[in-house]
Amino acid sequence: MPIQTVNPYNSKLLKTFDELTDEQLEQKIANAHQAYQSWKNSALSERKALLLKVASIFRSKKSELAKLITLEMGKLIAQSESEVEMVASVYEYYAENAEEFLKDRPMKVKDGKAFVRLSPMGVILGVEPWNYPFNQVARLVAPNIMAGNVMMIKHASNVPQCAEMIEKIFKEAGAPEGVYTNLFLAGKRIAKLAEDERIVGMSLTGSETAGSSLGEAAGKNLKKSVLELGGSDAFIVLEDADLDLAVEKAYLGRFSNMGQACTSAKRFIVMDKVADDFISKLQLKITGLNVGDPMDPKTQVGPLSTEDAVKKLDEQVQATLKAGAKALVGGKRMDREGAFYEFTILTDIKPGMVAYEEELFGPVASFYRVKDEREAIELANATNFGLGGAVFSKDTDRAVNVAAQMETGMIFINENLASRPDLPFGGVKRSGYGRELSPLGIEEFVNKKLIRIA
Ligand code: NAP
Repeated sequence: MPIQTVNPYNSKLLKTFDELTDEQLEQKIANAHQAYQSWKNSALSERKALLLKVASIFRSKKSELAKLITLEMGKLIAQSESEVEMVASVYEYYAENAEEFLKDRPMKVKDGKAFVRLSPMGVILGVEPWNYPFNQVARLVAPNIMAGNVMMIKHASNVPQCAEMIEKIFKEAGAPEGVYTNLFLAGKRIAKLAEDERIVGMSLTGSETAGSSLGEAAGKNLKKSVLELGGSDAFIVLEDADLDLAVEKAYLGRFSNMGQACTSAKRFIVMDKVADDFISKLQLKITGLNVGDPMDPKTQVGPLSTEDAVKKLDEQVQATLKAGAKALVGGKRMDREGAFYEFTILTDIKPGMVAYEEELFGPVASFYRVKDEREAIELANATNFGLGGAVFSKDTDRAVNVAAQMETGMIFINENLASRPDLPFGGVKRSGYGRELSPLGIEEFVNKKLIRIA
């Protein structure tokens, strides 16, 4: 994939970037490794000051940064502004709390003393996706910079201006050279980097294919890795749910970011008793929306991130329809310039169909009707993914009981899943391993060193 900015609203190629040569890449790794030698000994107060400055730059440039997100991947401008706010809060969260998270952990021992100290490890390589171009990076970078690691980031090839901007912000905030490095590289060059002894850990947020390639390379070279991969989250509505609330959250959960989130609600599993009401209310909610330029605050339906994203989604939808499913609403790309896809609800989906088996990364809701709670749980778990999910019921104990039986890393009750700095984020099964955010996010790339005193 060439490294370039193409505006998905009108398919205009705006800017192209050169990949790093091998010599340039070597220099950047050497600089990062050099920077680590002093950053690992820096005071926590210095790291905190850096991240607070980064956060304040994000806040002060909110409008400019939001426009960059929208320009490169088509997010509605108000949602881009929310992303920038969220990014600032992630940097602030780790700046304010890392000291506590990194405190020595005394061990209960029969004799003498022992404690675990969380020490930095070195240069960490992150591979990031385009769907939240500033936030995905912040989640990995903030805890690691506070832990004393230094970061090299290979961003998605369709958001190069966002990628470059993050490096500029770190520089403006006073980060020593090599503490944060942007790498313009093709994905296929990443596996080779696992062989470099100066790179001690690798993290990837993206597809299963990219994740298994990085995981394999990291494993072969005995490197720690974290994988945040795809999802096919179930959104269960029990018959005693507040239906208006459930529909409102279903709309946000499936159609925010044009459905391009790993934790978007992708499969709506609704009890028979309330299924008709739920689906007609959701259908009403997605009809008559303003389609247009994502830079215009009045727009409610913008483009997907790229032409390729629309093509892939449409292939999946057409294959599902051909196999016998029905499109209650939508079901095809829009007949207009740009990467636009109709908001869609699919019904009559059966095992073996593409929409049943695969992740749909766009504004397409899969709707399932079930007779009872048991069937809902079985269907929710009938996927190889295990990222997140949601349960709606006025009976919280009942909802928690359902949540406990769902095979995922996260479940939200009476809310759609949303990432927050103070809550752990990550999945099980083919959605990956490891956690970002919260106190757990700072523990992935640290040496949990035991110190024993006789
Ligand atoms: P993708 O193709 O896997 O791209 C993600 C990143 O991986 C990009 O930087 C990409 O670079 C790079 N990459 C691609 N192939 C690679 C390889 N063989 N080795 C190393 N790096 C490689 O993902 P996508 O389709 O754009 O993004 C959507 C996917 O990400 C969805 O499945 C979504 O669910 C998942 N996701 C997961 C989370 C989470 O936290 N669990 C969050 C967001 C998204 P290029 O752009 O240069 O190809």
